[in-house]
Amino acid sequence: MSILKNKKQADYTIIVGCGRLGANLANTLSEEGENVLILDKEKEAFRKLSPSFGGLTVEGDGTDLDVLKKADISRANAVIAVTNNDNTNILIAQLAKEFYSVGRVISRLYDPERECVYRELGIDTICPAVLSANEIDKLLEKPARTKEAV
Ligand code: AMP
Repeated sequence: MSILKNKKQADYTIIVGCGRLGANLANTLSEEGENVLILDKEKEAFRKLSPSFGGLTVEGDGTDLDVLKKADISRANAVIAVTNNDNTNILIAQLAKEFYSVGRVISRLYDPERECVYRELGIDTICPAVLSANEIDKLLEKPARTKEAV
C-alpha cells in the first residue's frame, strides 16, 4: 500500500538514508517547500530531522522493493541514495533508474574509483573525498584537483 494519500502529489523527492547528510538535506529541502520522503532502516535515525521537518518518514531497507513501493517510488521525480554503503547506494540508484524510471537519481559514493560505473548507468554522484580534496585545495589556494588525481 502506498503511503501518499493524495494521488495527484507526484512531485517529490525520496532520500534514502537519514544520516548526517540525508537528514540535513531533508531538512533543507523541506524548509524550501519541497515534498520530501525520507527512508531509513533505523527508526532512531529520524531523530536527526528538525522539529519543523514537514515531509514523510518511512522505516525500512531502501533495497527492499516492498519498502520502495510503500514510498511510492514510481511517482517520485528524484531519488537520492545517501546510505553509508556504496553497494547499497548503487543498488538503490539502479532500481530507481532502471526499474522505476525516476528522472533524477543522485548517489553518494565513498570510493571515487567507482564513479565511472555510475556514470555509465546515468547516475549522478556526489563523492565526499573529491569534494573535500577540492575544498582543501581551494583553502590552500591551489587549482582544483581533478577526480582522477584523488
Ligand atoms: P551516515 O553515515 O551518517 O550518512 O548515515 C547513513 C544512514 O544510512 C544511517 O542512518 C543508516 O541507518 C542508513 N542506512 C544504511 N543502509 C540502509 C539501507 N539499506 N536502507 C535504508 N537506510 C540505510
